[in-house]
Amino acid sequence: MDPSKTAARDANCIFCKIIDRQIPSNIVTEDETCIAIRDVNPQGPIHILILPKNHVANITEVKDAQLLGSLFMKVGEIAKSEKLDHGFRTVVNTGEHGGQTVDHLHIHVIGGRHLEWPPG
Ligand code: AMP
Repeated sequence: MDPSKTAARDANCIFCKIIDRQIPSNIVTEDETCIAIRDVNPQGPIHILILPKNHVANITEVKDAQLLGSLFMKVGEIAKSEKLDHGFRTVVNTGEHGGQTVDHLHIHVIGGRHLEWPPG
């Protein structure tokens, strides 16, 4: 079997449990490689997380450029479907200093209000 097609989950990962429907979430869209869910603690009127279905801890662990491409292609699709016509922010937090709290790679898409810059 092609290992890239085999689901790889981390039993202790909350996002893996969401992907496996062991805990509920508000799913925006999904396909064979990724899923997008609404953040439980939204930082704007729209706050969506895009995650790969196979467990990858963070962006430094990604070995598959096609997977990264698929995840980032979702950003534009979601911005369009959520009507974020005035712009939005795309964030990938990594590690402790980056503010990553869930060790399963995810892209934040935050919009629906004017966002400040720089972040704290
Ligand atoms: P980060 O701090 O970049 O790792 O982002 C993790 C995000 O996951 C935070 O914005 C949390 O609010 C969000 N989050 C944590 N648990 C859940 C959950 N069960 N469903 C949806 N979003 C979650």
